[in-house]
Amino acid sequence: MHLSRFPRLHFAHLPTPLEPMPRISEHLGGPNLWIKRDDCTGLSSGGNKTRKLEFLMADAVERGADTIITQGATQSNHARQTCAAAARLGHECHILLEDRTGYHDEAYAYNDNVLLDQLHGASISVRPADSDMNAEMEQLAQKLRDDGKKPYLIPGGGSNEIGALGYVNAALETTVQANERSLRIDHFVHATGSAGTQAGLVVGFEAMNSKIPVYGISVRAAKEKQEANVHGLAQRTADFMDINPDLITAEKIVANSDYVGDGYGLPTASMVEAVTMLAQYEGILLDPVYSGKGFAGLIDLIRKGHFNKGENVVFLHTGGSVSLFAYPKVFDLPGYV
Ligand SMILES: *Cc1c(COP(=O)(O)O)cnc(C)c1O
Repeated sequence: MHLSRFPRLHFAHLPTPLEPMPRISEHLGGPNLWIKRDDCTGLSSGGNKTRKLEFLMADAVERGADTIITQGATQSNHARQTCAAAARLGHECHILLEDRTGYHDEAYAYNDNVLLDQLHGASISVRPADSDMNAEMEQLAQKLRDDGKKPYLIPGGGSNEIGALGYVNAALETTVQANERSLRIDHFVHATGSAGTQAGLVVGFEAMNSKIPVYGISVRAAKEKQEANVHGLAQRTADFMDINPDLITAEKIVANSDYVGDGYGLPTASMVEAVTMLAQYEGILLDPVYSGKGFAGLIDLIRKGHFNKGENVVFLHTGGSVSLFAYPKVFDLPGYV
């Protein structure tokens, strides 16, 4: 697999560490848990979108763009990392934020990712829940073109076949790390949303014949819809790389939507438990919207005996912990006297 065939900029801190989690493994009494630290990709406090943006921003540069447009939910980690990448390249950046949760308190609506978007110099504009965000982006792009700009549109989550290359690369990186330390990875688990992370991983592991099954914990869509989204994007990504898309069969795409709760970005009790447990057993910060729900799913699957003792399970930490501060009242904390 020769990813240098595709334009890429290098601004992520790679490879990210692959670390054992002995205390939480012992506490849960199931498989050996490891964590792949994509919260440590470096750009504006890190996260999984940085890997995708290395390929997306390179494409933007190749096409002569001077302005970047993307969209996400109010506390979008993707928007924040895109603003930072655009700042590095000296590009103008416009962010459309969808009011998906309906939260308007100060911490959620102005702080954390929203604060950082602005600090990176982006202009932000908000749209109501369930807006057609792609149409909104296209409308803004036309206005900017009329003003003489050359906008480049990045889809929500950076999830298209170009962005997914970032996770094809992550599959390559993880397989090399595992081989170097003779670690046999039996399962690879992570939170899945806009599908680019899982699609890239499945294609990358397939292309290297790694035989590492990927298990996505959905943070929004129901199982069937999420699997169809991931499958479609994985096949398009394979095709884009001249890999036979028929190799990406439906049974290689697994998503579980049991841990979404009431909806995207809405807290669940199991997320609170997962975030608190990882903070207190491993000193690692998850986030309330993605990795917290993903790890909650992993905890529940372990308790249900889904994995065998002695198996090695890698959890991909996709980042997002800055949004913890947007949910200050959700955690049951002791306070102080
Ligand atoms: C975007 C995001 C995800 C989901 O990745 P997708 O490629 O959109 O499926 C997971 N975790 C965090 C912290 C994210 O920001």
